[in-house]
Amino acid sequence: MPELPEVEVSRLGLLPHLVGQPIRQAVFRTPKLRHELPLALAGRLAGLRIDAIVRRGKYLLFDCQSRTGGGWLILHLGMSGSLRLVAPGTPAQKHDHVDLAFAETVLRFRDPRRFGTLVWHESERIDDHPLIARLGIEPLSPSFDGHWLYVATRHRTAPIKPMLMDSHVIVGIGNIYAAESLFMAGISPRRAAGKLTRPQCERLCAAIRATLEHSIAAGGSSVRDYVHSDGGAGSFQLTCAVYDRAGEPCPTCHHPIRVFRQGGRSSFYCAHCQK
Ligand SMILES: [Zn+2]
Repeated sequence: MPELPEVEVSRLGLLPHLVGQPIRQAVFRTPKLRHELPLALAGRLAGLRIDAIVRRGKYLLFDCQSRTGGGWLILHLGMSGSLRLVAPGTPAQKHDHVDLAFAETVLRFRDPRRFGTLVWHESERIDDHPLIARLGIEPLSPSFDGHWLYVATRHRTAPIKPMLMDSHVIVGIGNIYAAESLFMAGISPRRAAGKLTRPQCERLCAAIRATLEHSIAAGGSSVRDYVHSDGGAGSFQLTCAVYDRAGEPCPTCHHPIRVFRQGGRSSFYCAHCQK
């Protein structure tokens, strides 16, 4: 599943090719992904210019304002979606459900499982859209710091890990990033969020930021490939210390990594290093 770093690298890869460019034609080859894809939307998009591409959580938001009123195209890759830039005239393959054609390139959305989202928001603002309005804080924003995390965790008796993965609290922290950040910060995934100390909140916040930024940097080196190949952004090979390593030695203390079920997901941690 595409995670925040993959989405951010997609955004960085698209920016130089699409910003300032008018959409010549939108082509939908399926009537619906997660939501309906009405033909009227294809007509609405034609002629609009992309002014900016911003990211909110795992949503890519294409800002298409115009003098006669525009809006935002909201895109989420879902479980299996990927974006590519292809040359005009490149034949569509199976699962290539949406094209946005520009003068010199085509943005192509492939989504075998069709859980992706493509919806239009006819508005100057994006933060009032139902998909966006309730999203939590951006972990890469300046306001996400140890103090914020300390305040946000007070009086919470539930464990810290599911809270990190709750997009209404913090956006874009998937299971891998939660597990690796908690290991880096030396905090057990079972720890009650409200019991975290201020220094622990500082450490955890720094670890989350470092883990995401490391992954974005790793993917950044493949931006050129992503733009020109047919592979999409794919998943980055994050070198995991604990995630999916049950029974293997902890890289710090060599005790075996443990796994347990937490909130319907597998939680990996070192009981010796994480308290
Ligand atoms: Zn350990």
